[in-house]
Formats: sequence, C-alpha cells, structure tokens
Amino acid sequence: MDATEAALREKMVEVMLAMDARGLNRGTSGNISARLGEGVLVTPSGVPPHRLVPEQMVFIDAGGNIPEGQARPSSEWRMHHSILELRPDAGAVVHCHSRHATILACAGHEIPPLHYMVAVSGGPRVPVAPYATFGSEELAKGVVEALAGRRAALMANHGQIALGPDLDLALLVAEEIEEQAAVYWGCLAIGGPKLLDDAQMGQIARAFARYGQKPQAGKTS
Ligand code: 13P
Ligand code: ZN
Repeated sequence: MDATEAALREKMVEVMLAMDARGLNRGTSGNISARLGEGVLVTPSGVPPHRLVPEQMVFIDAGGNIPEGQARPSSEWRMHHSILELRPDAGAVVHCHSRHATILACAGHEIPPLHYMVAVSGGPRVPVAPYATFGSEELAKGVVEALAGRRAALMANHGQIALGPDLDLALLVAEEIEEQAAVYWGCLAIGGPKLLDDAQMGQIARAFARYGQKPQAGKTS
C-alpha cells in the first residue's frame, strides 16, 4: 500500500468520526467512499465509527469486483460505486441519516429554494430520490438519477447523500444540506418559507462561481 492510500484510509476514519461527533450519524448509520486510482474505497458494513480502523476500508475495482480477504463492504457499496463511476466531477461520497434531512425525506419533502445556501447542492432545490430498500441496486439507481447535475439529494424514508471533489468537501455539502433541512423544517412550523425565485437563484449560482479563494485572472500564483 502506498502513502496516498494509507492517508486516504486514515482520512476515512477521521470523516466517519467527525460525522458521528457532529450528530450527522448515530450508531452504524451512514457510510462514505472515495476514489482510489481506478477503483474506490468504501467503509465496511456495520462498524461503529469508534471501532473503525483504516485497514477495514474496502477496495472495489473499476468493474465493481471486490477482491477477497477484505472486510464486508458497506451495504450501500453499489450506490457509492455507481456515483463515482458516473460522476467524474466527484472524488468522494458521503451518506448520512442526519436528523432534519431525514425528517424531510420521511415526509417526502424536497428542500425548496428558501435560502441562498441551498445552491451548495448544485441546484435551486434538493430533490428526494425514490424509496427503495437500503443496499439495493434499485436504491443505487434512484439515487444516481436524483443526483444528476447536483451535489446532494435526500433519500426517501432514509437520509441524505452528498458528493464533492474530496471527502472534506463532500462532508461540507452534507452538513449544509442538514442545516438547510433544519431551516426549512423550522420555517414549516411558522407558516412556511418565503421562497427565492428562479432569477434570484440564478444570480446566486453566478455569485458562487466567483465566491471564495479562486485564482485571480492575470496572476500566475
Ligand atoms: P452500512 O453499515 O452497511 O454502511 O449501512 C449503513 C447505512 O446507512 C445503510 O444505508
Ligand atoms: Zn443509510
């Protein structure tokens, strides 16, 4: 195993512990994955974060084959593998059962454009992928479709999923989706949100394209 793989395995333990510490997951719920060469690394199934060790991360090759001698992969490995296969923009995927996202997912409510940070999901609203049994191919397919052109989706009667170029950024998206779900839930309790319109969400998307520490035109470093 080279240093890159060793560091990624360590990082995966760190991110699972962070999700637990931040209340995004409880017990053995949730799982994550990251691209490694032509394949992916995914968390093992049913291991609570405080018991996770880097060696338990499971390598799945580009064809979806799981070399023997490894831990059993997350029940959602097909979902992770399909997303990373079909989304070259994604380097990592985070799935969690964060409370408010799960409340909305159980009620079948997508997150509408109520706050500019909803755009972190890559669109003006966060859709709900249709319900299917956890770990099923049907769930993997529905989630991939719901994520088309986006970075996040709710999963009906289950939780949420987010992707990013790396694990830290995928985790940031998942945290923001949870925050927006909580804000929406709160708004629903006091009469419902006053939504942003398409033009406002379009301006937000353009503003995000310029936001943060991007290299400036004409500068070489
Ligand atoms: P695993 O422990 O198999 O990853 O399952 C947890 C989960 O969230 C299933 O959707
Ligand atoms: Zn789950």
